[in-house]
Amino acid sequence: MIKFIGYRCSICKTEYQPGQVNYICPKDGGNLDVILDYETIREKYEPEDITSRTDPSLWRYAPLLPVPEVKGGGTPLHAAGWTPVFKMEQLAGKLGLQQLWLKDESRNPTASFKDRASAIVVARAREIKAEVVVTASTGNAGAALAGMAAAVGQKAVIFAPKSAPPAKVAQLLVFGAKVMLVDGSYDDAFDLTIKAAKEFGWYCRNTGYNPFTAEGKKTAAFEMWEFMQKAIGTSPYTLFVSVGDGNIISGIHKGFKDLLELGWIEQIPRIIGVQAEGSAAVANAFRAGTEEIVPVSATTLADSISVDLPRDGVRAVRAARDTGGTYITVSDEEILSAIAELGKVGIFAEPAGATSYAGLVKAAGSGAVGSDDPILVLNTGSGLKDVKAAMQAVSEAPIIEPTLEALKKLL
Ligand SMILES: *Cc1c(COP(=O)(O)O)cnc(C)c1O
Ligand SMILES: [Zn+2]
Repeated sequence: MIKFIGYRCSICKTEYQPGQVNYICPKDGGNLDVILDYETIREKYEPEDITSRTDPSLWRYAPLLPVPEVKGGGTPLHAAGWTPVFKMEQLAGKLGLQQLWLKDESRNPTASFKDRASAIVVARAREIKAEVVVTASTGNAGAALAGMAAAVGQKAVIFAPKSAPPAKVAQLLVFGAKVMLVDGSYDDAFDLTIKAAKEFGWYCRNTGYNPFTAEGKKTAAFEMWEFMQKAIGTSPYTLFVSVGDGNIISGIHKGFKDLLELGWIEQIPRIIGVQAEGSAAVANAFRAGTEEIVPVSATTLADSISVDLPRDGVRAVRAARDTGGTYITVSDEEILSAIAELGKVGIFAEPAGATSYAGLVKAAGSGAVGSDDPILVLNTGSGLKDVKAAMQAVSEAPIIEPTLEALKKLL
């Protein structure tokens, strides 16, 4: 394993030793980037040493991760990542695009992108011998932590807003985590988690607070790098990513920055963030040309990206700005219709998962992407996570008498 060297604040650039801080910058609350020993990695590894590995999980990137692999193997924690990428020819045709792929993160062990972060944070918890890991979650981060923790016998405590979809709460409970439903918003749960972690000495996984979540999420960038290299060589391409707290988009950006730093790529793909209109604090900042994130009062049916104050907003703005990307906002209607469109080609996405595709539909319509741009869209979570929203995206099935006459009448 390559030891990580320390952290660098994304705001004031102060560097910290690995043991000096655990979460955000003590000076200004900025998110910390994990710094790896790139020189040693460059000396020891060629890209082929990674791409020739056979592990079908994010652990194939162990040499580029700041945590040791959890010993044992063969558990759901060891199966996070390495999700399939599908060629979306029917949808490409509809949108007038030539090359469109979708990376399906619903295939992760607990059915969302969050498994990547939670696998790495649980590995870190093991390394520092933390007894309990705690997180605030709108549902998926908690389910991922609960699942990854359960897989290796790690204790987990989850705070979720009481409005979290029942399927997600069921996952938390079935994975045996200690679950507390907070009578308040995700943001209230977030603040309570930090207080509880301080009070009880728990290790806090909170998104946009714990620097290791982005290190897990960056593995999606490594996978896209491997995939697109085979699919289109070194041509530039565009990514569409749903954004709530902004940690997925920042983590993906970090993954590509690592590859650039290693000299393994020459250019980072264009990254386009997509937010719900009713929860668009990052998009607002991007459009205002600032890094100042002004909280909103979030209202969207896409619960996983319903965030008043994005906790990784600054890096999320930069992910689009520094890669020539942009931000797009979509309405709940557009999100529901994206769920239906993806469903018709065999992809079942939860609202936040379909948001990226809704953004692509808008971008293709407005000319923000060219018809010959290779495009990769991420579906970040499974439709089974929020069945109520799924039912809103489609029309009801009729109930019929069990007779041929009744059937004929209906057809
Ligand atoms: C968490 C989540 C997102 C957004 O990730 P952020 O890091 O909060 O921007 C998108 N989709 C799904 C399904 C999620 O669970
Ligand atoms: Zn700082």
